[in-house]
Parts: sequence; C-alpha cells; structure tokens
Amino acid sequence: MPKEKLKIAFYWAASCGGCEIAVLDINEKILDVVSIADIVFWPVAMDIKYKNVEAMPDKYIDITFFNGSIRSEEQEHMAKLLRKKSKTLVAFGSCAQEGCIPGLANLHDRKEIFDKVYVKSKSISNPHGTVPKTSTKTTEGTLKLPEFYDTVKTLDQTVDVDYYLPGCPPPVKLITAAVEAIAKNQLPPKGSVLAPLKSVCDECPRKKENKKISKIYRVHEKTPEPERCLLEQGIICMGPATRSGCGAQCLTVDMPCTGCGGPCPNSPEQGAAMLSALASILGLENEQDHYSEEEVEKLMDQVKDPVGTFYMYSLPSSILRRKVKKE
Ligand code: SF4
Ligand code: SF4
Ligand code: SF4
Repeated sequence: MPKEKLKIAFYWAASCGGCEIAVLDINEKILDVVSIADIVFWPVAMDIKYKNVEAMPDKYIDITFFNGSIRSEEQEHMAKLLRKKSKTLVAFGSCAQEGCIPGLANLHDRKEIFDKVYVKSKSISNPHGTVPKTSTKTTEGTLKLPEFYDTVKTLDQTVDVDYYLPGCPPPVKLITAAVEAIAKNQLPPKGSVLAPLKSVCDECPRKKENKKISKIYRVHEKTPEPERCLLEQGIICMGPATRSGCGAQCLTVDMPCTGCGGPCPNSPEQGAAMLSALASILGLENEQDHYSEEEVEKLMDQVKDPVGTFYMYSLPSSILRRKVKKE
C-alpha cells in the first residue's frame, strides 16, 4: 500500500513575503516536497479560507511552516489555530523566530505608528486624523478589523514552537536540509534550531589578524580590502554573534553580516554578544586601564544606530523586547 503523504501548511503573519519566495527558491526540490506531501493550506498560493482550517480535526496537519511575527489579533488567532491543527510547528525565518525587521516597530507604540502612517506622512491628506478602528458602524452593518497590537511578538511568545529555521529569509540549503530531514523522519529533538552549531565567522573566508580598531565606519564610508575581516577594518559585522548556515554569503559581496541568522548557539542575547565582541576589538574590555569615560563614549558614539545595528533582527526576542515610555 502506498505510504500516506504528509500534510503541510504554510502561513504568513507580519511578514514581507520574502520567506514565501524562499520556499519557491528551492526550485526542483519543491518536487521532493510534493512527492512526500500534500499542501493543505497556503493562502499566498491557493484559494483556501480560514474556515477550512477551522474545520480540520486537531493535529490534522503534519507540519506547518509559519513565517512572520505576531502584531495583530488576526495573526495571533491564526498562530493559535495552526498550533492546534498541527503536529509540528516550525518558526520559519527570522520574523517568526525573533521578530526581525517588523520587530523594530517595538521602538514605538500603536499611537505613534498610526500617527506616522495615517496622519503625519507627507503623502497623506487626512484632515480628520482618521485611523483604523476595530469596529465601524455603517448603514450596511458593522465593519470589523483585527486589533493592531502595541508590541510585535515572536511566534514562540505566542504559542509553543517545535523547530526554528533561521534567516531572513532562511537559506535554500537550510530549507532543503529541513525538507530532507522531514522526508526521512530524522528531525532533531524538539526546540532545535535547524542550522549548524557555528558562527558566521566560522564560515567566512576573510582573514582575521587580531588587530584592534579605533574608528568605526558605516558601510558606505569605506571600500574594504577584499580579503581582510571587515570588523578589523572598522566596519561593524555581526558575524561573531550570528549563527551560520548561509555560507557567510554577504561577506562574499563585500557586505557585512547584519545578523539575520539569529544568535549563536551558546549566546542567545545576540546584541549583547556583538557589543562584547566590539568592545574587545576596540580594546575596551579593560577600558579603565586605557580609556577615560569620555573616550569610551566617543568611540561608542560612532555607532550611529545602535538598536538597528545590534538588534536589527532580534529586538522582540531580546531581554530588551521593546522601548518603554515613562508615563
Ligand atoms: S524573515 Fe525576512 S524574508 Fe522572511 S518574512 Fe521576515 S523580513 Fe521577510
Ligand atoms: S567579523 Fe565578519 S568579516 Fe570578520 S571574519 Fe567574522 S564574518 Fe568575516
Ligand atoms: S551573512 Fe549574516 S546577514 Fe548575510 S545572510 Fe548570512 S547571517 Fe544573514
């Protein structure tokens, strides 16, 4: 008797859509997916309604690949629904794993975001300052919109997650390795990150010479030497604090790693790990021996966008989580 096919689902929450494209980037490997699995839910590619998912028995779906972070009531509902209907839930990509770029909105609250987007943007004409409401009465009835939350959350801050596929988007070879592991029923223990136990520096071909730096450059301010470590040339590269799996691909085109692979296996606080790596290359570990407080401040002032640099992908999953305002 032929083996029963797996049932797979894909969903996007607060996402740019890049993770959906990454699924297609696996090219002919998609045939392997189709040979072992039926895709039972994929709103971006097939016409299927939420009520169809609601009608499925619990644990009907074998594996759901969930991309995007949780920023609205609808996304939270879908995360909870898909958790209930799936045997295995994979946080697919940095948004689901750590909050990623949408998570930088945690530097603001809903009111600030609505003001900016619907009222104050230069291209907007909104004399009455109208912003989206969850419920609006019209002559035809009441219109409802999902609530837009103050805070972006990761998938595992919302529901229990079985596996994490890191990256923005996850690299094709990590996706294909995950598909192969699923096909062979060889997934690692629950909670695993489906990526190597190494840092981007471990995969990077650039030479490190253990040189200290005293000046930090933004990426457009310096043409780097092609073979030397970018960090040792003063360009902040998140490689020491970032999990590998991408083949250090940004470094092969003279761009620093911005950290999309998420934290290294033994340093879950990615931003703090990078600050520590930067302090070491700036010679600040024993700063009291070398630098005055003003000199340390002057050095760190060269980092123009600290949150966007050290927490570009991980703000919601970090110990900082969001900006808190004093009332
Ligand atoms: S992880 Fe990156 S590619 Fe994927 S949805 Fe988020 S922003 Fe887009
Ligand atoms: S810091 Fe960046 S450039 Fe330097 S070795 Fe690590 S990944 Fe490569
Ligand atoms: S080098 Fe860094 S930013 Fe670039 S793909 Fe790899 S992990 Fe992501």
